Amino acid sequence: MFDIVIRHGRIVDGSGNPWFYGDVAVENGRIVQVGRVDGPARAVFDADGLVVAPGFIDSHSHADFVCAAVPAAESKIMQGVTTEVVGQCGLAQAPVNPKTLADLQAYLAPFIPKGVELDWSWQSLDDYLRRIESQGNSTNLAFLVGHGTLRLAVMGFEDREPTAAELEKMKALLAESMAAGAWGLSTGLIYPPGCFAETEELVELARVAAAAGGVYVSHIRNEGDRLVPAVEEAIRIGETAKIPVCISHHKAAGRANWGKTKQTLALMEAARRRGVDVTFDVYPYTAGNTLLSALIPGWAQAGSVEQMLQHLKNAESRARIKKDIAEGIPGWENLAKSAGWDNILLGGCTVHKEFEGKTLAEVAALSGKDPADALLDLLLDERGEATISLFTIDEEEMQGLLAHPLAAVGSDGWASAVTGPLAQGKPHPRAFGTFPRVLRRYVRELGLLTLEEAVRKMTSATAQRYGLADRGLLRPGYAADIVAFDPEEIEDTATYENPFRYPKGIHYVLVNGKLSVGEGQLQGVHGTVLRRKQ
Ligand SMILES: [Zn+2]
Repeated sequence: MFDIVIRHGRIVDGSGNPWFYGDVAVENGRIVQVGRVDGPARAVFDADGLVVAPGFIDSHSHADFVCAAVPAAESKIMQGVTTEVVGQCGLAQAPVNPKTLADLQAYLAPFIPKGVELDWSWQSLDDYLRRIESQGNSTNLAFLVGHGTLRLAVMGFEDREPTAAELEKMKALLAESMAAGAWGLSTGLIYPPGCFAETEELVELARVAAAAGGVYVSHIRNEGDRLVPAVEEAIRIGETAKIPVCISHHKAAGRANWGKTKQTLALMEAARRRGVDVTFDVYPYTAGNTLLSALIPGWAQAGSVEQMLQHLKNAESRARIKKDIAEGIPGWENLAKSAGWDNILLGGCTVHKEFEGKTLAEVAALSGKDPADALLDLLLDERGEATISLFTIDEEEMQGLLAHPLAAVGSDGWASAVTGPLAQGKPHPRAFGTFPRVLRRYVRELGLLTLEEAVRKMTSATAQRYGLADRGLLRPGYAADIVAFDPEEIEDTATYENPFRYPKGIHYVLVNGKLSVGEGQLQGVHGTVLRRKQ
């Protein structure tokens, strides 16, 4: 007697091979048969006319900003996502040093919707993972160790090199976190304190992650004017520390830089030829999403959020920030300049709700200020806690990245929901639509990818990248993370104006062999923490 049999689906097994008709049998949370399945089952799902695939794996997710408070977040599971790789861009909620906890809280605050209460009752990554395990999560979560979080725990927001003793402390914390089951080290080299690190510090830490079998995952130092050297740095870290590399949410940001991924792809291909294992992930949208504070230079954010607010009040500092935005600083990714004020859309605000969904050019016009002043005043009023979408990516170039064999799909979205505490502000629609969007627009409408190749990029490509050994394929013995969708009906419906919309066409989602989505609704929370075994 099987627990579940899914009958008569078109099986797209995650390998990239052509679909075939078949059944999938599930027992005790595992797939036990794929193909023709005879014999009775406690539950039978009819998949006539549906594609049956491994549950999607989100290569790049920020779901962990709220998972300790809201385990039933629905925005990913409703897309058919069953596993998310989290702790990205150097930002994570553990490990915590009680002495610098206030700094960590202040820095992560803009990412966490108001009304979501985290109790910060953990310190080590192991404590934190136990906490998530005890409450479950809608998806399975594979955690990375955030470099920014490590640096904050050891040296706060200090804009300098670590001393030898501090570097040793970071390495020890990283080793301890890898032993707890993390899958690698992530960096966010545009955000303080990550941006204060030189390459050598990152190589030293990457060696520790490599020794534990992890991956180096990087939001690189610059995605605009200095994109090419930033990719070179990531490859150099992989080559020197002998660690696989995943370049996060790859793009060329800003019109002046469009076309540069020709060079970065050539660099990655050349690196692979000489034995450096580098891949990347990409989201299927032309806007990125980040903090409003990412528009001002790193020096103005050093120290603490309180110090940043002092700079925003001080006439001399303000003049210097405005000059830096107008003229640039060598090595700093000047997002406001590369995007342009009318391509920066305000996401979530706390104080100025009336500006949500407006561009900074519109905010400036409405408040009768010059755009740079409007930005600085807004940052001050919001105490740094606001997010933005930046329209800086060329659609054609993004398509080239998505179609590239080295690309996996990652949403870069956070956990959200259409009701409850997560239904706030204007999140980027990728939180609700990434995976159905690839299947609707880039498979069905544009034919950029075959269905099988798209599913591979959403499943086994990421499982293999991170070493999730029993996920990402429909094979006997694998975890029963399964999605059944209608290939003609599947559609993302979330937009920048109306992000709070679940996709259409997802019929069933199983996580660890249990029904999580059916009848267009969340049916249960069956995900857990995936810990890397040493
Ligand atoms: Zn990032």
